[in-house]
Amino acid sequence: MEIITGIAASEGYAIGRLYIHLEREEIVVPKKAQDPDWEINRFLQARERACAELGVLYHRAVARVGEHHSSIFKIHLTLLQDQDFFLEVRDDIRENGVTAETAVQEVGHRFFQMFEEMDDDYMKARGADVRDIVSRLLHFLGEERDQEEAAWIPSGTTGILAAEEIMPSQTIRLDGEQVEGVVTRTGSRTSHSAILARSLHIPAITGVGEGFDLLQNGSTVILDGFCGKVIQNPDAEVLLDYQKKMEEYQRQQQVLESYKGMRAVTLDGTVVELCANISHPNDMDEVLDIGADGVGLFRTEFLFMYWGRLPTEEEQFSSYRMVLEQMQGKRVVIRTLDIGADKQVPYLKMEREENPAMGRRSIRFCLENQELFLTQLRALLRAARYGKLSILIPMVVSVEEVLSVRRLLEEAANQLTQEGIPFSQEYELGVMIETPSAAIISDLLAPHVDFFSIGTNDLTQFTVAADRENPHVAALCDARQPAVRRLIEIAVKNAVRCGVQVSVCGEAAADPSLTRFLLSLGVRELSMAPASLLEIRHTIQNLRLP
Ligand code: PEP
Ligand code: MG
Repeated sequence: MEIITGIAASEGYAIGRLYIHLEREEIVVPKKAQDPDWEINRFLQARERACAELGVLYHRAVARVGEHHSSIFKIHLTLLQDQDFFLEVRDDIRENGVTAETAVQEVGHRFFQMFEEMDDDYMKARGADVRDIVSRLLHFLGEERDQEEAAWIPSGTTGILAAEEIMPSQTIRLDGEQVEGVVTRTGSRTSHSAILARSLHIPAITGVGEGFDLLQNGSTVILDGFCGKVIQNPDAEVLLDYQKKMEEYQRQQQVLESYKGMRAVTLDGTVVELCANISHPNDMDEVLDIGADGVGLFRTEFLFMYWGRLPTEEEQFSSYRMVLEQMQGKRVVIRTLDIGADKQVPYLKMEREENPAMGRRSIRFCLENQELFLTQLRALLRAARYGKLSILIPMVVSVEEVLSVRRLLEEAANQLTQEGIPFSQEYELGVMIETPSAAIISDLLAPHVDFFSIGTNDLTQFTVAADRENPHVAALCDARQPAVRRLIEIAVKNAVRCGVQVSVCGEAAADPSLTRFLLSLGVRELSMAPASLLEIRHTIQNLRLP
C-alpha cells in the first residue's frame, strides 16, 4: 500500500482502477514561412474560430456548473484576444519569418514561463490556461490536438484518471459517469480545472508532484478528495473503511436527488419558486429532469456566441419557442441581449473601450443598434404565443431606458401586424436590478414594469467597485457585503410595496448562506444554475422563517 499526498482540490471519494494518461508533448517543429501577411491572416482566422468555440464551451459550462464557475472560459477569451499576445505573434512571424503555428508555440511558451515565475499561486496557475489557449489555436491552425478525452478511459468502463495536467476545457467535457476521480501532477486548488471539478462533483487531487511517478497504470486506488490522499493498492482494512465512508457520502448525495421534482417549501409552509438559469435550449433536459418551477433567466447572449454569427429572427424565434413550449405554461424569463465587457461577441466587432464593464454594453448597445434589437424583440413577440413569456431588460440604470424598450416593443408589434406575422402581446416586462442606480431608483422603475430580477453578480461588482473577473479583488466582490445587502433590501421593499414581482437570479441565489436573508426580505423566487438547484431546495426544506 502506498499513500501519495497532494492538494484536496475537489471533495468526494473514489475507489477504482487507475488510468494514467501520459501527455504527448505538444511541440510544433519550428517552420519558416514565405508570406508573413498570409500567416498573420491565418492566425487571425484561427483566433476567431477559437473564440467562437470558447463561446460554446462557456455556454456548456454555465449550463453544467453555473456562471460563476465558468468564468475561466471568459478568461481564456480575454487571453486569446489579448493585444500583447497578438503583437508578439505578429512580430515573431514578421521578424523571424516563421509560420503562425511556430509563432503561437513560441509566444505561448514565453507567456507560460512568465506566469510560472510569478510568486502568486493564483497567477502561477494561469500557466495552464495559456497552454489551453495555445492548444486551441494550434488546433484551428491545423495541428492535431490532444487525444480526445473520451479515449482516456476505455469506453464502457469507469476509472480514476491520472494525468500530468488537465486543462479546463478538458475538465468540462469529462463524463462524471465514467471518470470517477482525477489525480494530476500539477495544479492547485485555485486552478480553474479544480473549480470546475468541484462543481461537477468529480473528486480531484492536484499537485501530487513527484508522487505521480509512483502511480501504476491499472492499480487499484482510493482517492480521498477531502484530505488530498491517493492510496494505491490499499490493504483490505483500509479499503473496507473507505467503502463505508463512500457509502455514507453517497447517502447524503441521494438525499439531494430525492428533492427532484419537489416544490421548495420552508418548515413554516412558505413556498419558494426555484427556477433555472439557462443559456441555450439544450440546457432544458437538465431543467426538466430536476423539475424547476420555471426558467428564471435565459441569457440570450450565449445564443449569439453559439452561432458565431448574428442569429436570424427565425433562429431566435425557434429557440425561444422551444423553451416556452417545453416549460408547458410555466414562466420563462428571457433576457434581451446582454453583451459587452466580459461577454464579447467577436463578430460584432464592438469598439474597444477603456472600461468596457461601464461602457456601451448591454441595453445601451441594443438601444444604439436598433435594427439588431428589433430583430430580437420581434422574435420574442412571435414566441410569446407559445407559453408564459417574461422579457427582461439587463443593465438598466434609468426609467428612460425602460420607456425606450417599450416604444421599440410597440414598433416590433406594428411591423409584425403590417407583415401579417402572428404574435402575442401577452408578456410581462421586467428589469434587472444589477446596478446600484436601478436599486436606488427601484421605486421609480416599479410603475413601468411587471417584475424585478436582482442580478447580484453585477450589483456586487458595481457596488463595491470590484471587478467580478479579477481574482485579486475576489474577496471584496462578495454579495454578502453589507452594502450589497442594503441595496437588495431597498429593491425588494420597493417591489413588495409597489406590487411588483421580485426574484434573484445572480449567484447569490445559489448561495445557501444567503437563502435565509433573501427569503426574510420577502423574496419568493430564486433562479440559479440547474447544478445548484437541489442543494438550495434542501436548504429551504430545512429552514423556518421568523
Ligand atoms: C448578474 O449580473 O447577476 C446576472 C445574473 O447577470 P450576468 O451574470 O449574466 O451578468
Ligand atoms: Mg449581469
